[in-house]
Amino acid sequence: MVKVNENYLKLKAGYLFPEIGRRVNAFSEANPKADLIRLGIGDVTEPLPPACCKAMQAAVEEMSTQNGFHGYGPEQGYFWLRETIAKNDFQKRGCGIDPDEIFISDGSKCDSSNILDILGEGNRIAVTDPVYPVYVDSNVMAGHTGLAGSNGRYAGLSYIALNAANGFQAEIPNDPVDLIYLCFPNNPTGAVATKQHLSDWVEYAKKHDALILFDAAYEAFIQDPLLPHSIFEIDGAKDCAIEFRSFSKNAGFTGTRCALTVIPKSLKGIGLNGEEVDLWSLWNRRQCTKFNGVSYIVQRGAQAIYSLEGRSQVNSLVSFYMENAEIIRNQLAKVGFEVYGGKNAPYVWIKAPENIDSWEFFDFLLQQANVVGTPGSGFGASGEGFFRLSAFNSRENVEEAMRRITRI
Ligand SMILES: *Cc1c(COP(=O)(O)O)cnc(C)c1O
Repeated sequence: MVKVNENYLKLKAGYLFPEIGRRVNAFSEANPKADLIRLGIGDVTEPLPPACCKAMQAAVEEMSTQNGFHGYGPEQGYFWLRETIAKNDFQKRGCGIDPDEIFISDGSKCDSSNILDILGEGNRIAVTDPVYPVYVDSNVMAGHTGLAGSNGRYAGLSYIALNAANGFQAEIPNDPVDLIYLCFPNNPTGAVATKQHLSDWVEYAKKHDALILFDAAYEAFIQDPLLPHSIFEIDGAKDCAIEFRSFSKNAGFTGTRCALTVIPKSLKGIGLNGEEVDLWSLWNRRQCTKFNGVSYIVQRGAQAIYSLEGRSQVNSLVSFYMENAEIIRNQLAKVGFEVYGGKNAPYVWIKAPENIDSWEFFDFLLQQANVVGTPGSGFGASGEGFFRLSAFNSRENVEEAMRRITRI
C-alpha cells in the first residue's frame, strides 16, 4: 500500500475553522430562526473594484481573438505587472526592488508555505504566538517539527509570545534562529510594527545570518503615515528578508487569486558543502518546475488596481472596512472591553471578560448575540483569553452585531 507523509499525522485534528463551523452548525440546527452575523473568517465581503472587472472583461474579449489570445504566460508573471508593482509599491517608497525580484502567484497563503521547498532541514524556526496557522502547519507538513504538546505548541519550533504586556510586538529572541515569520499589520491581533521594530529585526537577522519571511498582506490597511508598508523600507533588509503580498484583502481578490512574493537577488542561503547559494535562483527554478503562472485575465485585473480609477476604488474599499473596524472598537470600548488592533488592520483583538476562555466567549456570543467571531486560542496558546472580530462585513451587519453585543 502507498505510504503517506507521516508529518500530516502530527497536525492537530481540531483545526480552528472546522471547529467553528461545527459549533455554528449545531447552533443553527437547534435555532433555525436565529439570524447569525459572521465576523469570524477573514474573507472580504464587498464586490471587486469596477476598474479590475473592466480590465478582466477586456482581457476575456482579447482572449477570444486570434491576435489577443494568450497561452502559457511567464511562470514569474507578466513583466508589465511586475514593473507596475515594483514602481508603485516599492520604488515610490524608496525600496530598491526591481521588477524581476517580484514573482506573481495565485496567493500568499500558497507562497508562504511553498517557500519551504527551497529551504533545507535543521533550520531553527521562530513564529509568533498567536500566529497565522499556515506558517506553523506548513512546517509540520515539511517535517520541521516534533509533535504538538497539550498547549498546541509543536516541539522544535520557537514561539515568540505577542501579548498585551509587550504591546503585541514580536520581541527579539535571545537565542539565534535561522528563519523567522513576521506578519505586520498582524493577523490576528491587528498590531503593527514600527520602523524601529523592523530595524531591530533586520539587525538581528543580519547578525545571525537569519532569513525573515515578512507577510505584508495587510499593508494597505495602514493609516498611520509613519508606519512602514514594506520590510524593504529598512536598510539591509534586501540581505535578509522575503516579503509576501496579496491582492486578496486590499482589492477583494480572495476568490480571484493574485499575489506576489519579493525575493531580492542579493539573498543567500547555504548548502551542506558550506557554499552560498542565491535564493532567487532556487525560487525561480521551483516556480518554473511546479507553477505555470496566474491567468492573463487575472493579471490584467491586478494591473488595474494601480490605475487612477483602481487606486481610488481600492482606497474606498479599505476606508470602508476601516470604518467598520472603528465602529467595532468604539462600541466595544464603550461597554468596557479591552480592545486592541483595528487602527491599521481590519482585525480587532478583544480581551474576553475575566475568567472566561476564548471558546467560552465564542459560545457566549454565539448564543446570546448570534454573532460568530474567532477564538484567540485557535491562533496559539498566547491567544487564550482573546477573541478576534473581523471588519470584513457590510455596515449593516457590523452595526447590528455591535448593537447585540453591547446590549448583553
Ligand atoms: C489573508 C491572508 C493572506 C492572503 O492569502 P492569499 O492566499 O493571498 O489569499 C496572507 N497572509 C495572511 C496572514 C492573511 O491573513
